[in-house]
Amino acid sequence: MSNIPVTIPYFTDEEAKEVEKVLASGWVAQGPMVGKFEEAISEHEGIAYGVATTSCTSALHLAMVAKGLKACMDAIVPAFTFVATANAVVETGATPVFVDIYRETFNINIEELESLLDKQYHEEDGKLINSQTGNTLWGIVPVHEFGLCCNIHKVNELAKKYNLQVIEDAACALGAMIDGVHEGAFGNPSCVSFHPRKSITTGEGGMVLTDDEGLAKRMKELRTHGSTVSADARHKGKGFLLPEFNEAGYNYRMTDIQGAVGLAQAKKLDYIVEEKRKKAALYDQLIRDTLPELITPFVPEGYFHTYQSYVCMLNCDRLGIADTKKGGEYRNNLLQRLEDKGIATRQGTHAVHMLGYYKNTYGYAPEDYPNAYACDHLSITLPLYVQMSDEDQRRVVQTIREEIDNM
Ligand SMILES: *Cc1c(COP(=O)(O)O)cnc(C)c1O
Repeated sequence: MSNIPVTIPYFTDEEAKEVEKVLASGWVAQGPMVGKFEEAISEHEGIAYGVATTSCTSALHLAMVAKGLKACMDAIVPAFTFVATANAVVETGATPVFVDIYRETFNINIEELESLLDKQYHEEDGKLINSQTGNTLWGIVPVHEFGLCCNIHKVNELAKKYNLQVIEDAACALGAMIDGVHEGAFGNPSCVSFHPRKSITTGEGGMVLTDDEGLAKRMKELRTHGSTVSADARHKGKGFLLPEFNEAGYNYRMTDIQGAVGLAQAKKLDYIVEEKRKKAALYDQLIRDTLPELITPFVPEGYFHTYQSYVCMLNCDRLGIADTKKGGEYRNNLLQRLEDKGIATRQGTHAVHMLGYYKNTYGYAPEDYPNAYACDHLSITLPLYVQMSDEDQRRVVQTIREEIDNM
C-alpha cells in the first residue's frame, strides 16, 4: 500500500505551459505574469487590489509596516496560529500580545479579546495604552484558521469602537466566505499564502488584498526597496532615470516564474475548494459513523469552510483522558502509529505562547491560553488533497479506528 501524505499540490500541464512562456520571454523577475496573477486573485475575492509578495509572512510584514505598526506598539494575535503571524509583528519591532481562541473553530475568542482590551489597556488621548508596558495598542491580527473565517464582524466592531487597525491573516483562507462575502472583502487588508500546504501554491508566495488604492501603492513601493518613480521621470518619460528612494523598503517581489504557476493555479481554485469540501463531508460522515473518539471540524451557520486543513480534536471525555498533557501524549502516540502505517498526519498548528522564543521572551505558562494549549495538544490534521480517493479516506479512518482499539 502506498503512503498517504498530509497534502500535495494539484498541478496539471497548465502550470508548466505558463512557466514555459515566461522562460521563453526572458522576463523572469516580477513582471506581467505577477500582474496577471494579482488581478486573477483579487478579482476572485472581489477586491480592488492584490499585491503579490515572496510569502504570506512578508505580506503580513509589508501590510503591518504600511499600516504604521512599529516599536513601542502592541498588536493582538491569537495564541493558536502558525508562528509566522507573531513573527511578522516581532519583525516590525512591535510586541505581539496573545489572546485565546475558541476550541470549536480554532479562531480568535471574542469574549477573551474584549476582556483583554478591558483589563490590559486604558484610554489616553483616544488611544489604548498597555497599563503594564506603556505600549500603544496598534490593532488586531485575527487569523482565519484552516480555511474557516473567524468572527471578523465582531473583531471589526471592537476595532471601530477603540480606533484600532485590523490586518487579517488569511494565509489558509483563500476562497473562504461568510454569508457569501469572500475573505478579503471584510473591510481590512488581508494576507494570503501560496505555500504548498495551502489551497493553491506558487512554491513560496503571498499576497496582500486591499480595496485601498493608496495602501496598495505604498505597499508596491515598499515591496521594491521603497522606490518611487519621480514626477519628473513620469511626466517627461525619461526612462533612464532611476527611481527615488525616500524610505528603506524591502525586496518582497514574487518572480514571474511563480506568477505563471499562480495564474494557472488561480483557475483551479474553485475546483480545488469544491473537491476538498466534498472530501471533508466524507470524512465528517465516516468519523461520525465509526470514530466517536474524534470531534469533527465545526462550521458555524453561514460560514463557507475551504478546508485548507481538515482538523479534528481528540475527544478526551470519550477516551477517559483526564488532562490536556496526557491527551497530548495519547495524540502523539496515535500519530506515530499512523505514520508507521504510511499515513501522514500533523497537529493542527502551534500554541505560539509555548514556542521557545515567545515562552522565553515573555515568560508564558501553558494555562495563560488554555484553549490554544489544548488545541496544540489535542488537534489532528488528517490528509486531504484533490487527488485523494474515497478508498484512501476510508483507509485513514479505518486505520485510526484500529490503532485506537490497539492502544
Ligand atoms: C502558512 C501560514 C502563514 C505563513 O505563510 P507563508 O506563505 O509560508 O509565509 C502565516 N499564517 C498562517 C495562519 C499560516 O497558516
